[in-house]
Amino acid sequence: MGSTTQSISVAIIGGGIAGLALAAGLLKKSHLDVHIYESVTEHRDVGAGLALHRNAIKAMALLGPEVHQAYLDKAIDIASEADQEMATKIYYGQGPHAGELVAELGRAKGRKSVSRADLLAGFLELIPKDRITFGKKLSKIWEAPDSDSALKVHFEFSDGTRCSADCLLGADGIHSVVRSHLLGRDHPATQPKNHERWQVFRTLVSADEARKHIDDKYTRTVPIILGPRGHINCIPMNKGTRLSAGVAVRGIAAPAPTGPESSSSSHGSGSTAKLDPSLYSDYHPSARAIVSLVTADTSASWSVGDHDHAPYYAKSRVAMLGDAAHASLPFAGNGAAQALEDAAVLDHLFSRVLQPGRIEDALSAYDAVRRPRSQAVVDLARKFGRVYAYAEGDIHEDPDKLGDFFALAGQFTNEADLRKQNEDAMNKFEDGVRGRSSGKSGRE
Ligand code: FAD
Repeated sequence: MGSTTQSISVAIIGGGIAGLALAAGLLKKSHLDVHIYESVTEHRDVGAGLALHRNAIKAMALLGPEVHQAYLDKAIDIASEADQEMATKIYYGQGPHAGELVAELGRAKGRKSVSRADLLAGFLELIPKDRITFGKKLSKIWEAPDSDSALKVHFEFSDGTRCSADCLLGADGIHSVVRSHLLGRDHPATQPKNHERWQVFRTLVSADEARKHIDDKYTRTVPIILGPRGHINCIPMNKGTRLSAGVAVRGIAAPAPTGPESSSSSHGSGSTAKLDPSLYSDYHPSARAIVSLVTADTSASWSVGDHDHAPYYAKSRVAMLGDAAHASLPFAGNGAAQALEDAAVLDHLFSRVLQPGRIEDALSAYDAVRRPRSQAVVDLARKFGRVYAYAEGDIHEDPDKLGDFFALAGQFTNEADLRKQNEDAMNKFEDGVRGRSSGKSGRE
């Protein structure tokens, strides 16, 4: 770690959404010495767009007004009027209700979308340059006392260099090395899976070009268009000049996600699955037009996967967060939001970690509060995918039932009381500390 007079060193592995947001919070705590290690030499813009729901926004606000502002500076209003209410709109793409609006998710004033690359750039502006090292790919972790007999987490990078810290927080994405260390390489939940063999085909087009073919209502909002041979989704990006358009097809991809990037979605999947526009002739005209645009250029395609549930997110002085802990399918639009919730809880807990001996209590409290909720979101995202594909019983046949499902799910993900989540975590931390000082283990 860099030279410092501060008492607790925290190494964050991975400078993605989770790692940078967490660092932005922790760096404000004078008792912490925080350093981020990121494997890439710079973040590439791979054309991913995010429509962050209310819980993501609340988590950023808890991390600090500057974190929230960084997002606001990079995001675009989905609505044309700032005070116009806007939501992710779910439409039938096929069948007797083709073109009908089924439900709205996350309705709010000032709904925005943001490109992942822009959001990362915004968060990066909050991190002093000497607090992040790029081109450092973690390869190995072990814990051992240092020469003063103080327990340290030691770690090595693929270039052979080594570091140590009092605590290591792994925000290294879906193919996490930290997850592999915590669970063991051979644990059945360590590697991501693609149980239902989803393939997401995506393209990035100029918004003006898209509007020549697609009804305006699908290019200026975040629509999800349902159907049995694939659901379609668009996200306006880069201040409305580009449109990220995608078709997600169930049952055609290779079972395990592969790819160069550590993300819930690996860019350039290497999958041989192809999008076949002839399968969409019964979809409504704008849906067919989006499929044609995507078929013409699938260069921004993704192979998706998620994690089966980890039995714990932390052990001793090491924890995982974000996609490293709970990568989910992208269909509930809540992966980044859950990563930000993790960061908000850890940030809150570390405000009270004034001695290295308290790290384990904080990580145990983080695990107890965040694991059930984030794993429920992984399950929910799988269910969203099946509902979108008309593969969850007959729920798709009844617009009212479908609307109720989305309303309840949206309430669970988006309307959570995150202040209470932080308080619950702090109460567990204090219980753990009390238990430890009275001789009991902090981990129940
Ligand atoms: P990542 O963003 O993957 O970051 C991990 C970082 O760690 C990377 O920078 C990587 O280079 C680095 N790294 C990896 N391995 C190492 C190593 N060994 N050593 C050092 N560094 C390493 N979420 C939403 O909330 N709303 C949405 O609308 C939404 N839409 C989505 C649409 C799509 C198509 C997809 C695929 C996902 C979507 N998500 C959405 C999910 C969201 O993108 C992810 O959940 C989020 O990016 C996770 O952030 P993270 O920081 O945990 O992981």
